[in-house]
Amino acid sequence: MNKKYLTEIFTGIRPTGGLTVANYLGAVRPIVELQKKFTPLVFVADIHGLTDKEPKEVGQYVEGVVADYLALGLNPSKTNIYLQSAVAGEVSFLTLILSRLTTVSELLRVPTLKDKLKNKDNPEVANALLFFYPVLMAADILLNKAERVPVGEDQLAHLEITRRLAEKFNKKYGDIFPLPQTQEMKALRVLSLKGEGKMSKSIPAGAIFLTDDLKTIEKKIKSAETAFEGEMTPKLKSHILITKELATEKEDLKKVDDLIKEHEAGKAVLGEFKKVMSKVVIEFIDNFQKKRLEIVKDKDYVRSILEKGNKIAKENATKTINDVLKTMDFYR
Ligand code: ATP
Ligand code: MG
Repeated sequence: MNKKYLTEIFTGIRPTGGLTVANYLGAVRPIVELQKKFTPLVFVADIHGLTDKEPKEVGQYVEGVVADYLALGLNPSKTNIYLQSAVAGEVSFLTLILSRLTTVSELLRVPTLKDKLKNKDNPEVANALLFFYPVLMAADILLNKAERVPVGEDQLAHLEITRRLAEKFNKKYGDIFPLPQTQEMKALRVLSLKGEGKMSKSIPAGAIFLTDDLKTIEKKIKSAETAFEGEMTPKLKSHILITKELATEKEDLKKVDDLIKEHEAGKAVLGEFKKVMSKVVIEFIDNFQKKRLEIVKDKDYVRSILEKGNKIAKENATKTINDVLKTMDFYR
């Protein structure tokens, strides 16, 4: 039986609008970095989006989110991108098959589900797709026989479930699924410009969006909370991180280092620091917006990239489902 990896690096992107600089630094850039070493396969998770949205709503973001990723550095000659629903039949079937290998109580114990049911949704109103999320994710990964999956801390448990399901299948029916490994990522955590907590798109006042106009960015940074002279706070640290990670010119990096030294010595220079931060962030976002405009100019471009990726995903899915049917002794 065929137990070879089909995919080097595998990850998904959510078709929701409006990325922030935190999403870029924490989620997009790590994937862009991985292109240097591997050939990634990335999918736009439109079926996952159905947990809380209608297909039409999810669909309107699909091409936009691909354009965002391309403008942020995903290289379509290195990375293939497909739409999850291009293999709707295969991924749904594998989800059902894998569901038989876990129990209702095991799924109820999944930490992310427990959190969601406690905080936002409740079991009386949450639809059961939320419950199946980890199994659907396992099906995405196993359908493509992925070798490495870059995951943040919150996803580690899900990848563990994927491995457990693969092992159970292999033991019960035949050894067809190579086990996916966790790909470590240099995870940056960016804080909100205001108050406590992390930068989140659902709290727009403290977030810098990649779609913000340059005046808005300037205003947001001007009113960002920092620290008293001589003091270092998590917020200021996060502003420094944003600036240093987005800076492309050595001169700006040096300016930041010098200003922070002066600040730590008790001088009132954070206004000056904010000017450098504004310049760097504006340059980054301006550059992104120009590239994105270029990408969406050609109406068929993003579509053609998805079509190429869909073909690869379909090939992988067909092979894997054939393995599954044969190994399980389906009547054919
Ligand atoms: P929401 O407010 O809707 O939860 P969000 O900004 O937190 O939006 P998500 O869609 O939840 O974004 O997450 C997308 C990706 O961005 C995830 O991989 C997540 O780890 C990463 N990410 C989100 N917020 C930050 C942050 N403040 N710093 C670094 N990475 C982040
Ligand atoms: Mg979030």
